Amino acid sequence: LTDSPFSDFLGFELLLEDDDRELLGRVRAFMNREVEPVINEHWTRGEFPHELVRGIADLGIAGLAYDAPGCPARGALVDGLVAMELSRVDPSIGTFMGVHGGLAMGSIALCGSPEQQQRWLPAMARLELIGAFGLTEPETGSAISQGLSTTARRDGDAWVLNGEKKWIGNASFADLVVVWARDEDDGQVKGFVVEKDTEGMTFDVQRDKIALRVVQNAEIHLRDVRVPEENRLQEAHSFHDTSQVLRVTRMGVAWQAAGCARGAYEHALRYTKAREQFGRPIASFQMVQDLLVKMLSNVTASTAMNVRASQLQVAGLLRDEHASLCKVHSTVRMRETVGWAREVLGGNGILLEHHVGRFVADAEAIYSYEGTREINTLIVGRAITGESAFV
Ligand code: FAD
Repeated sequence: LTDSPFSDFLGFELLLEDDDRELLGRVRAFMNREVEPVINEHWTRGEFPHELVRGIADLGIAGLAYDAPGCPARGALVDGLVAMELSRVDPSIGTFMGVHGGLAMGSIALCGSPEQQQRWLPAMARLELIGAFGLTEPETGSAISQGLSTTARRDGDAWVLNGEKKWIGNASFADLVVVWARDEDDGQVKGFVVEKDTEGMTFDVQRDKIALRVVQNAEIHLRDVRVPEENRLQEAHSFHDTSQVLRVTRMGVAWQAAGCARGAYEHALRYTKAREQFGRPIASFQMVQDLLVKMLSNVTASTAMNVRASQLQVAGLLRDEHASLCKVHSTVRMRETVGWAREVLGGNGILLEHHVGRFVADAEAIYSYEGTREINTLIVGRAITGESAFV
């Protein structure tokens, strides 16, 4: 990894086996070569770069950690470092894969029967089928475990879904959307795989976002959508099962945040070495060095926490509060870091061509999705005090 010491200051990548480090290097080369030169154009237009999907598929990184049919089963640590690598160049691509490979594939890997896993996961791992994950609703975000109002009614050998979803990444072009709905009979939240072009499911793409503009988020309208029983995730019996998916994907978001911060730091470091004022590179000024070192410190601390939590995940010991702590820490430090990176670029920090401005904007979405800072803080608070602030 040629530029590893550049921001992998404490050599976390050396924890990986050789073949995983080689994979990380391939991801890095792809992102630098294929994504970075074109991504600002897509960001400006608010369009997803479908032409890059084949190249991402060839990297073999979808569902990297899952030990399920067709999935690489290479473990949570390399999965996390790959997520960081994607977001280091572009948080939108990182989010696209977080939704597809994390949320959608994770729902099927963790809550699907062996037959369902076999039916969908191999094609999803090859990105021949793209997935989305529909949990949030227009009126309910943070309180979704209590307030989820999309309904599922059993009708013979099928289910009938009705309701609204909001913010659903990839939904408008996905081949399948995992929709979470409340069973009208027992009141429990269950998961349903709704395939593309199913009658009654329509989308409105959410335009004019100021963050993650490349990611296509959509509102989903479900009107008497009939889904066969074999598309109900057989091991999703209540919101507790949904939470198992979110625990893992929250770690993914912590890694994305570390990647977003790392990308901004790297651009800032490069810029300060090249930019001269008062006849010297601005990197030579003490106050600039102070900010650069604080950025590196944030990136390194977030990475260290995430590495340890991913090791716990590999050992089967990751708890909700571990993932929440990593998400809170990495996102708060990300927001601070991208702000400092913008600062050392001066006016150029708000020009897309210098990339840092895109990281500043994208950080705002990463900060809030998969549980806001407040919600993840309260999950940790509940664990350490034994008192729930949610009631
Ligand atoms: P609200 O729940 O309305 O919260 C507003 C504010 O109130 C926040 O600051 C929150 O922390 C605070 N608050 C709420 N409750 C409490 C409390 N008890 N104590 C203290 N403060 C509280 N969802 C999906 O299902 N699938 C996706 O693919 C997806 N992708 C997304 C992509 C983007 C770009 C974004 C922005 C969101 C996405 N989401 C997705 C939804 C995301 O998970 C929600 O936005 C998030 O959970 C927060 O919900 P909310 O936006 O409704 O905020």
